[in-house]
Amino acid sequence: MENNKKLAQLLFGHIDKTPEYYEEFFPQRELKEGAKVCRFSPSPTGFLHFGNLFTCFVSYSMAKSSGGVFYVRVEDTDQKRSVEGAIEVMLKGLSVYGIAPDEGVVGDREEKGAYGPYYQSDRKEIYQTFAKFLVEQGLAYPCFMTPEELEKCRASQENESIKGIWGQYAKCRNMSYDEICRRIENGEQWTLRLKSPGTLDGKCYFDDMIKGKIEMPENVQDVVILKSDGIPTYHFAHVIDDHLMRTTHVVRGDEWISSAPIHLQLFKVLGFRAPKYVHVAPIMKEENGGKRKLSKRKDPEAAVTYYIEQGYPADSVNEYMMTLANSNFEDWRRVNQNEPLSKFPFNVKKMSVSGALFDIVKLEDVSKNVISKMNAKTVFELSYEWAKEFNKPLAALYEQDFERITAILNIDRENKKPRKDIAKFSDIPDYISYMFDETFSSCFELTGNATPALAIEVLKTYKDIVNLSDDKDTWFSRIKELCPEVGCTPNVKEFKANPEAFKGHVGDVSTIIRVALTGRVNTPDLFEITRLLGEERVKSRIDMAIKHYEEEE
Ligand code: GLU
Repeated sequence: MENNKKLAQLLFGHIDKTPEYYEEFFPQRELKEGAKVCRFSPSPTGFLHFGNLFTCFVSYSMAKSSGGVFYVRVEDTDQKRSVEGAIEVMLKGLSVYGIAPDEGVVGDREEKGAYGPYYQSDRKEIYQTFAKFLVEQGLAYPCFMTPEELEKCRASQENESIKGIWGQYAKCRNMSYDEICRRIENGEQWTLRLKSPGTLDGKCYFDDMIKGKIEMPENVQDVVILKSDGIPTYHFAHVIDDHLMRTTHVVRGDEWISSAPIHLQLFKVLGFRAPKYVHVAPIMKEENGGKRKLSKRKDPEAAVTYYIEQGYPADSVNEYMMTLANSNFEDWRRVNQNEPLSKFPFNVKKMSVSGALFDIVKLEDVSKNVISKMNAKTVFELSYEWAKEFNKPLAALYEQDFERITAILNIDRENKKPRKDIAKFSDIPDYISYMFDETFSSCFELTGNATPALAIEVLKTYKDIVNLSDDKDTWFSRIKELCPEVGCTPNVKEFKANPEAFKGHVGDVSTIIRVALTGRVNTPDLFEITRLLGEERVKSRIDMAIKHYEEEE
C-alpha cells in the first residue's frame, strides 16, 4: 500500500487534485425524476455518417423526451484521426436536423455548460487524477513493454481465445517499485495499464436498453488506460467523462458492445455507478439478397452531406429516421397527421436489435409526404435557400419573379389532397421546367385516341377560345364545349359506350392541350399551369405544337 502511494507520486507527482475534488466540482445534476442525460461524442474525423446522425438522433430524442440534457463532447484524444474544421462539419450536420445541444461543444473551441471542458484534449489533468487514484489503490501500473515485445506477444497468441496483455503476458504487472524507478530513470517509455481484477470464469452482466440482457465473459485484460504521452485511451476517457458529466444513458454504436466488459470493470474499480447503455445497431442496406452495413466507401447516402446537397428537408430526414427508429411510428403518423415529430412517444426499447434497413425509396415517400404538407411559402423559402448553395441556375429562375414561383409551387398544394411530386429540392428544376422558356423542352407525344390530325383541330380551336381571365369552371366548360366541334364527346362514358361515333373524349382533348403546353402527359392542375404560363407562352406553345403535327402528318 505504501509502495502504491509512492508509485502514484512517482508517476503523477504533478497532479495535486483528488477524485473527491472533481466529484464536488461536478455535482449531481438537479433534474426532475426520470430525466435522462445523454450525449453525442464524435471523434473529429470531419465525416458525419448517417449512422452517427441516427445514433445522435436517438440520444437527443431520449434526452429531450424525458426533459433531460443533451450535450456534445468531442473525443479528440487520437490526434491522428483529427481533421481541421471537423467540428464545424459535425455541428452543422446536427443543427440542420434541429439537434441543438443544451451544453458542450457548440463551435470550434467554443463550449458552454458547467461540466466541461468538453474537449477530451483539455481534460488531461482530470484523467490523470483518476489514473493516480487507481495506482494508489494498486489497480493500475506502468507497463514498459516495447512495441516489439507487444508484437511478439500478439504473434504468440494466435491460437489463444483471449488475446492481449493478461496473466503470464502481463510482464510488468508485479514489477517492484525499485525496478520501476530504475526504468523511469533510464528514460524508458511507459503506458499505464489497468490491473484487471477479472477472473477467467467471471461473468459480466448488463441490461442494454436495446439489446436486452447481456452476459459476457468478464474482462481479464490489463488494458492500456493512459498512453505513453499521458493521454487516455477511449476506454478510460469515456468512463471518466460519462461519470463526471453525470451521463445517465450512453447511446452509442453497437461496435462498442464487445468492449463493454472493460468499461463496466473500469466503472467498478473507479467506484462509479455505471450508466445505462443503449447500443444502437448500424443502419443496414440490402444488397444481392443479403444485408450489409451502410458504407462510407460504397454508398453516397452514408454521408449526411448527401441529404443536404440533394435538398431533402430536415423534417423529412427526421421523419425518416423516426421510421427507422420505431416501427410503430408510421401508425402513429397516420393517426396524427399534423402533429410535430416531437409529440411522438419515442421508445428506445422498440428499436431494432439487428439494425434498421435503409431504403431510399421509403425516404423519398416520407419526404414527398412531408413536402406535400408544407405551404408554398415554406417550400419556396427552403428550396430557395437550398438553390442558392447547390443549384445556382434554379436560384436564378426563382429570382426572375418570387411571386410567380411561389404560385407555381402552390399548384395543387394547400388543399386536402396535395400532390406528392417533390421528394427533394433537387427535383424542383425538373418539376417546374415547363413553366420557363429557358427550361421548357417540348415533346409532342400523343396518347389515348389522339392523332396528329385531331391534335391540330383541338389546338386551333383551343387557341381561339382560351381566355386567361376565366375561372377554373368556365375554363373547363369551354374545353367541354370544344369537344363536339372537333368530333369528340365531353362525356367519357358516352365514348366508351359508342367509341366508333367519336374521334375521342374530353380526356384526349385535355391531354393534347397539356402536352402542347407542358411537353408532358402528366402534370398538376392544367388550369393553374395555363394561368401561370400567361397568354403569350400559351399561344406560342400551341403554335409550335400545331406546326409540329402539321409536319408530322
Ligand atoms: N468517439 C467515439 C466514436 O467516434 C464515440 C463512442 C461513444 O459514443 O462513446 O466512435
